[in-house]
Amino acid sequence: MRAAFFNGKGQLRVDEVPATAPGPGEVAVRVSACGVCGSDLHSFLGHWPQPPFAPGHEIAGTVEAVGEGVTHFAPGDAVTIEPLIPCGECRPCRAGQPSACGHHEFISWHRHGGFADQVVAPARCLLALPEGPARAQGALVEPLAVAIHGLRRAPLQGGDTLLVLGAGTIGLLAIAAGRALGAGRILATAKHTHQAERAEQMGADTVVRMGEGNPAEALATLTQGEGVDVVLDSAGGSQAIDLALRAARRGGTLALVGAYPLPPRTALNEVIGKELRLVGSNCYGLVDGRRDFALAIDLLASGRVDPSPLVTHRFPLAEIQQAFETASNKSTGAVKVLVEP
Ligand SMILES: [Zn+2]
Ligand SMILES: [Zn+2]
Repeated sequence: MRAAFFNGKGQLRVDEVPATAPGPGEVAVRVSACGVCGSDLHSFLGHWPQPPFAPGHEIAGTVEAVGEGVTHFAPGDAVTIEPLIPCGECRPCRAGQPSACGHHEFISWHRHGGFADQVVAPARCLLALPEGPARAQGALVEPLAVAIHGLRRAPLQGGDTLLVLGAGTIGLLAIAAGRALGAGRILATAKHTHQAERAEQMGADTVVRMGEGNPAEALATLTQGEGVDVVLDSAGGSQAIDLALRAARRGGTLALVGAYPLPPRTALNEVIGKELRLVGSNCYGLVDGRRDFALAIDLLASGRVDPSPLVTHRFPLAEIQQAFETASNKSTGAVKVLVEP
């Protein structure tokens, strides 16, 4: 099969590698689409290490073969793959919080990911995609689950004012999911014009432009000085966490989803003085016993979240170099770039 690999800073190559047969409890999935994630771009651009396996963890495809003991899936089934493989044995796993597992594996870091013809994954990582929009947008289930996990971890309550920082894929999906999960009012920040337009398209009531005027003052004015109930930070970085601490209402909650490339320097006294709650949100897993992936599929299947405006580019696997160059150059207007082997 063909599989793409990082090949030094700013470079990818496509190699021919032997296809693996699924072992006991595993399933081989023929990839139909795999999205380029911001974390893939960090590896591509040399900010993060480059895994020795084929990258790609926003995967949709069709079951090709099942290993011994797999009864829930059969060849031909349309599926998406939850790439975080928790150990199932540690304390957080046993307590129903697999996203906090310290011994997990991650598809694309510990085995080949979705920028390849085929992925072999444990059957417990697969979820069936019902016919209709969820199947057509199967590669968007993973980033939607990231956004949903952050909102459910907060937790966002019906009627809450939600502020979403950052208007990349996760932020834009958090806006749409926040709307579907009952937010009363949604504010968002965006750096680029095309992101601001999409934030409104996905359901933000008001978008505050970063780099224009004073965003903290603008948000204070928009909330009559009270602040917002929940801030979901998908942007990461010192500027975002600072804005989050200032924009949250007294007693409000910050759900931290975006990674911080450097340890942020920030006014943590706001946390004490305003009695803020800081909630970390890692990938996805279970909240109240229900998989974030399952809820993401429901929201897509019912049409309550429509991520189709976010898919701006599609490339075949042979053109993965162009796919990554397009995704890392925001002047292309790229939001979600899909690779379709
Ligand atoms: Zn990702
Ligand atoms: Zn574990």
